[in-house]
Amino acid sequence: MNKLQDKVALVTGGNSGIGLAAAELFAAEGAQVIVTGRRQDVVDDAVRRIGHGAIGVQGDVADIGHHAALAAMVRERFGALDVYMANAGVITIAHSAGVTPQEFDAQFNVNTRGVFFGVQSIIPVMRDGGSIVLTSSLAATRVLEGHAVYAGSKAAIAAFARNWALELRARRVRVNVLSPGPVDTSILAKLGIADSDRPAFLEAMASMIPAGRLGEPMELAKAALYLASDDSSFVNGIELNVDGGMSLT
Ligand code: NAP
Repeated sequence: MNKLQDKVALVTGGNSGIGLAAAELFAAEGAQVIVTGRRQDVVDDAVRRIGHGAIGVQGDVADIGHHAALAAMVRERFGALDVYMANAGVITIAHSAGVTPQEFDAQFNVNTRGVFFGVQSIIPVMRDGGSIVLTSSLAATRVLEGHAVYAGSKAAIAAFARNWALELRARRVRVNVLSPGPVDTSILAKLGIADSDRPAFLEAMASMIPAGRLGEPMELAKAALYLASDDSSFVNGIELNVDGGMSLT
């Protein structure tokens, strides 16, 4: 109940899915939570659901000014940040032959550039001994049809994490990657699959996972809490697959 007591934690994309579950768990564990997302109404709903004095900030992680404003807000209101979870992400599934430059940029701007400049902006306000958790994807290391651009945009994150883990060692800021397999969140609805095809799609996905099912957001949140808290105090620069064993298939 108190793994993040009196800590300040910021979760990008914390208004939905994995980020929302992590924000709820962090708050239940005693953290002052800040969540972000582009949709103000969904951010507001998330703040109500998280409770515990959570704060919502609307913004786009592809906008570098948004990260600067977040860092300034953290410094002004809380002095420093203990946990930064760079979790906001988007996906478009398409065979490489049909990918447009706009689709490519949309995914890299959020999933890769947004993570890089988010961390760059937040480092000056991270408390020494803090923890950074980056949400990647199993797709970064396992080939899935139509995922080339998404996989590339996520694969960079593990390289960032390894470099940052060493760059920040003097300040004892740990940097780790959370790599989810398929998880039942609203991102699945954003894949452009018709409602009528959804059950067959979910069944096909589940059949690829040794656990026989998709993950639940709270299962990812528990792994995020492990990486965010002192439970993982000797863990740095790793990529933690939380995927029901899908990486084995
Ligand atoms: P989700 O429910 O769709 O959540 C995605 C979150 O990112 C939302 O809060 C969304 O809020 C936010 N977001 C998207 N683009 C943003 C932007 N430009 N600026 C700020 N916020 C933005 O999906 P999820 O499954 O929880 O995804 C969370 C992370 O897990 C993502 O990085 C995703 O790639 C990764 N992941 C998910 C799965 C899965 O199967 N669910 C598997 C592997 C990895 P707004 O729409 O309001 O901006």
